[in-house]
Amino acid sequence: MHKITLIPGDGIGPEISEAMKKVVEATGVSIQWDIQFAGEEVYLKEGNPLPQRVIDSIKANKVAIKGPITTPVGTGFRSVNVTLRQTLDLYACVRPCRSFRGAKTRYENVDLVIIRENTEDLYAGVEFKKSEPETLELIKFIEEKTGKKLREDSGITIKPISVFGTERIVRFAFEYARRHGRRKVTAVHKANIMKYTDGLFLEVARQVANEYSDIEFEDKIVDNMCMQLVQKPELYDVLVLPNLYGDIVSDLAAGLIGGLGLAPGANIGDKYAVFEPTHGSAPKYKGLNKVNPFAIILSAAMMLKHIGEVKAADKIEKAVEEVIKEGKYLTYDMKYENDSIPPVGTKEVAEAVVDKIKSL
Ligand code: NAD
Repeated sequence: MHKITLIPGDGIGPEISEAMKKVVEATGVSIQWDIQFAGEEVYLKEGNPLPQRVIDSIKANKVAIKGPITTPVGTGFRSVNVTLRQTLDLYACVRPCRSFRGAKTRYENVDLVIIRENTEDLYAGVEFKKSEPETLELIKFIEEKTGKKLREDSGITIKPISVFGTERIVRFAFEYARRHGRRKVTAVHKANIMKYTDGLFLEVARQVANEYSDIEFEDKIVDNMCMQLVQKPELYDVLVLPNLYGDIVSDLAAGLIGGLGLAPGANIGDKYAVFEPTHGSAPKYKGLNKVNPFAIILSAAMMLKHIGEVKAADKIEKAVEEVIKEGKYLTYDMKYENDSIPPVGTKEVAEAVVDKIKSL
């Protein structure tokens, strides 16, 4: 019996989590779910969107799966997702994006793995609000030390990238590549402009790459990388990126395989792992039984592999592949306009995957 923390999240989170739960249970793996709520409603009730009990549950169980959680834009509480990754030191975000036969997409044969650093960079949460005394002090300090004058009405976000943080994420990428029989790691950066942060990332990446002569290594500037991925994604394999570029390129890669509904993910640290889809809480579809549950279902397959339940994980992946190929039970986002078979809802997709698992 595995005990796993389940954070349903908000927006579409609860319905896709329910779908995922049914699919995992259909594999026959014995799981006791420790359900923990977090997010906006919890914030209103308990004054904290990520109460300590949620952290304690993950620490006790070591493994969690979560639905997306809404983050207020610009103001309000800080992202629960980012806080969770930082608090548990889940430094590696792993997001595989591979083509499924029959999925609606402009590309075939995409097979990328995005490895995003999860704890540093502009997501470190070190921010200075416009016009606050400490912000004005910082602006003055910068002028004194560098001769560069920042406008007094500026807000400032700090971008720390360390040798420690870079070394462990790049090593993680190479180890992942080795374990999964991958041929190449591409480090993505903007070292031509940000010499002391992205430049450091690149320098450390090159050093780590020297220890892995069995795996090809190259680097790409992030803007070029985006263009390359859109034009010839088949040339790339494992990408390793600092936090912000990793966030953006993850969505780009999801777009290559048919959208966010198909992009699973994992946040991995040395002690704990939290699995979650790449997509957000899509609040406009909340409670409508409309969105695609494949991303969280495939995240669950990643989780099962992580806990050693490889057969169950393979069953889920095979069942998802078959359901997509057959094209009868797919949500709206996977449908062409002139499709003769109408879309179905979240629950119906989950039922189709469950039926398929039972027939395997
Ligand atoms: P989003 O991923 O929620 O939605 C982007 C687009 O993709 C929308 O058109 C949405 O309808 C569609 N989409 C997303 N998931 C889908 C699915 N499963 N099936 C079909 N279509 C799907 O991104 P957003 O609108 O930028 O963010 C909404 C909220 O989610 C924000 O508060 C954001 O901060 C939060 N968010 C949370 C996480 C997380 O919990 N890890 C990740 C990203 C965004």
